[in-house]
Amino acid sequence: MTLTPVQLTRPASVTDAFLQQLIARVPGGSPWRLTEVYTGELLVELPQSTPDDIEQAFAKSRAAQRQWALTSIKDRLAVFKRAHTLFVDNARTVTDLIQVESGKNRLMAIEETCDPPMVMSHYLKRAAKLLAPTKRGGPVPMLTSSTEIRQPKGVVGIIAPWNFPFATGISDAIPALMAGNGVVLKPDNKTALSPLYGIQLLEEAGLPEGLFQVVCGEGPDVGPTLIDNADYVMFTGSTATGKVIGERAGRNLIGCCLELGGKNPMIVLADADLDAAVQGAIFGAFGNTGQICMHIERIYLPESRYDEFKTAYVAKAQSLDVRAAYEFGPEMGSLVSVEHMKRVMSHVDDAVAKGATVLCGGKPRPDLGPAFFEPTILEGVTKDMLCGVTETFGPVVALHKYRTVDEAVALANDTDYGLNASVWGSDITAARAVAARIESGNVNINDILATAYAAKGTPSGGFKKSGVGARHGDQGLLKYTDVQNMAVLKKQVMGPRPGQDPDKYVTSMLSGLKMMRRFRIR
Ligand code: NAD
Repeated sequence: MTLTPVQLTRPASVTDAFLQQLIARVPGGSPWRLTEVYTGELLVELPQSTPDDIEQAFAKSRAAQRQWALTSIKDRLAVFKRAHTLFVDNARTVTDLIQVESGKNRLMAIEETCDPPMVMSHYLKRAAKLLAPTKRGGPVPMLTSSTEIRQPKGVVGIIAPWNFPFATGISDAIPALMAGNGVVLKPDNKTALSPLYGIQLLEEAGLPEGLFQVVCGEGPDVGPTLIDNADYVMFTGSTATGKVIGERAGRNLIGCCLELGGKNPMIVLADADLDAAVQGAIFGAFGNTGQICMHIERIYLPESRYDEFKTAYVAKAQSLDVRAAYEFGPEMGSLVSVEHMKRVMSHVDDAVAKGATVLCGGKPRPDLGPAFFEPTILEGVTKDMLCGVTETFGPVVALHKYRTVDEAVALANDTDYGLNASVWGSDITAARAVAARIESGNVNINDILATAYAAKGTPSGGFKKSGVGARHGDQGLLKYTDVQNMAVLKKQVMGPRPGQDPDKYVTSMLSGLKMMRRFRIR
């Protein structure tokens, strides 16, 4: 395979001076070559942080965090009100950075920039209530009280992947910071630029300098020191790495949230609007070049509508505008790297070698750019194939037939993963009943993923091997806090009085329990 250099003019905002300014906050030496995905050309030499750099980053964040935790919630939230405006006003520059470092198409990149403002909006409305001390009442009415007090964990380590570098790098930090924590972020080396700019914008909005640190390096080099210094770890990435992170966090007795991979099914019911389902499946399989944790890799169709769906779906996939451009237009961009493209190709080659049929695509496209791969639809995929069981994480999807809805549900659940699922049908009640039977942290009806992911008030996480814990919702902020149970006793009435007959004490204690139940005393 020959790699043909692609001639493109980089977005005007992505100047060498801007890139140097962004990486100036990364401690370290022995740089890593961060390249432009569409061309393979060097963008900037990214410093790689040593264990010593990481320890110092935590020390700086911890020093700033002490003051930040004492800052009133009103003043902390004021930073994010200003940040919201700055993030929206600078969305196009963020889009430029996301595109050069990830190779995704422009529409997908600008949609990614919307995520941190949406998270800010949600928690701006909710954080003060969640973080306010809550009186719970004590065991003896009037004489005791107990108050739930939320304390920040300290400094949170965030490890982010490359597929949504800005969303995962920044959005997960927002509730942590609002709750009074410091943050040390480790983005993926390939996609460190957009989160670095996000931190710059947060500081322009008034986030204290030093509070939000960044360290860079390969995961196995940076991970251990980062986890050993953190008070909590927020990880987004593959299931394999999630196990490594979870093990180390467990040894250190710190909490962690693990947002991992998926092998997400789409079930099309017999009464579904097929045009809408086909359009949905195009985004589900090929949006972000198939590199969305919640995207669709398996489509289950009723026998009666299989051929109709297949014909329309293949035709649409073949007509997609796939190319490198920093303008709007292309419907699909590049995969993130040549290495990842080869992994995706190996899944397709393995499936074909074991008997699967390629209905369209199936090949790399070096003429479009070093890491381009065609939108690929397969038929005849079985569980002895790599793409039959493990996440491919590329623009590759398999079509399957089912005879009964029970069979469709069983097939959808026949996986170790449980991140997202999509059910399509005109009868919403019937579709809901099917959705409820799917073992998955997110289920979208008549949509692929956006409705669930954009619902910031509801926790979003994975079942089975797709994760532990959740982001969004109350849980998405409270996980970054420790609970202090502050209890006050005004007069000692619990326990036997001096000289009291133990039998009498036990009798009065037991009747007290009955009273508490009857009068619903907490
Ligand atoms: P990955 O697990 O290889 O890497 C993710 C991050 O972890 C990177 O920053 C990487 O440098 C770091 N890392 C790797 N090994 C490490 C180690 N031993 N210790 C500490 N850090 C380490 O995943 P990836 O290939 O970069 O990302 C794609 C995966 O992420 C897919 O599986 C996708 O489904 C998943 N993902 C999940 C969600 C979600 O919300 N559930 C969102 C986005 C991506």
